[in-house]
Amino acid sequence: MIGVIKGLATTIKTMLRSPVTVQYPDKHLPMADRFMGFPGLLWDVKIDESKCVGCKVCARYCPTDCMYVSIKDNEKYAEGKSHRKKMVDDFVLDISRCIVCGICVEVCNFDAIVMTQIHEIGNTGRRGLWADMDTLHAMGKEYEEEHGPAYPENQAVGEEETAQ
Ligand code: SF4
Ligand code: SF4
Repeated sequence: MIGVIKGLATTIKTMLRSPVTVQYPDKHLPMADRFMGFPGLLWDVKIDESKCVGCKVCARYCPTDCMYVSIKDNEKYAEGKSHRKKMVDDFVLDISRCIVCGICVEVCNFDAIVMTQIHEIGNTGRRGLWADMDTLHAMGKEYEEEHGPAYPENQAVGEEETAQ
């Protein structure tokens, strides 16, 4: 009898407890700060150009070979408006192959890429999961709008270099 009462009490307590889940996809639980979604590219708002110089280091170290990067001369460098001699020409990330390991962010010497918290990307076709350069910049912009500058200390370095 005592066991039945204890069981009933547990059931009632559980029924009165607030739910820990939400009705997805209408509602979302907040993500932990350390959560890593897919990578996004960062934009230098002061010079109004990408921070990515197209060096391809991230593509070389990516364990799943899912990044395609091309490089070009930076016109703004020739005009004296930027400290970046080279600039990314095209950047495509095959999200279907990205394992969200963060290696691309670790190896980037220019702090041009960040692990965003974007993870809800789906498509019925594989090509639909190819994120182009504009999409990747939009992902990086969204991340910085929500979390502040991804590399605040390096923004100051960039400003000094530009001023020289
Ligand atoms: S994201 Fe970084 S490592 Fe990758 S191509 Fe751009 S500058 Fe190079
Ligand atoms: S997170 Fe990992 S798998 Fe995804 S693009 Fe970067 S290096 Fe490649």
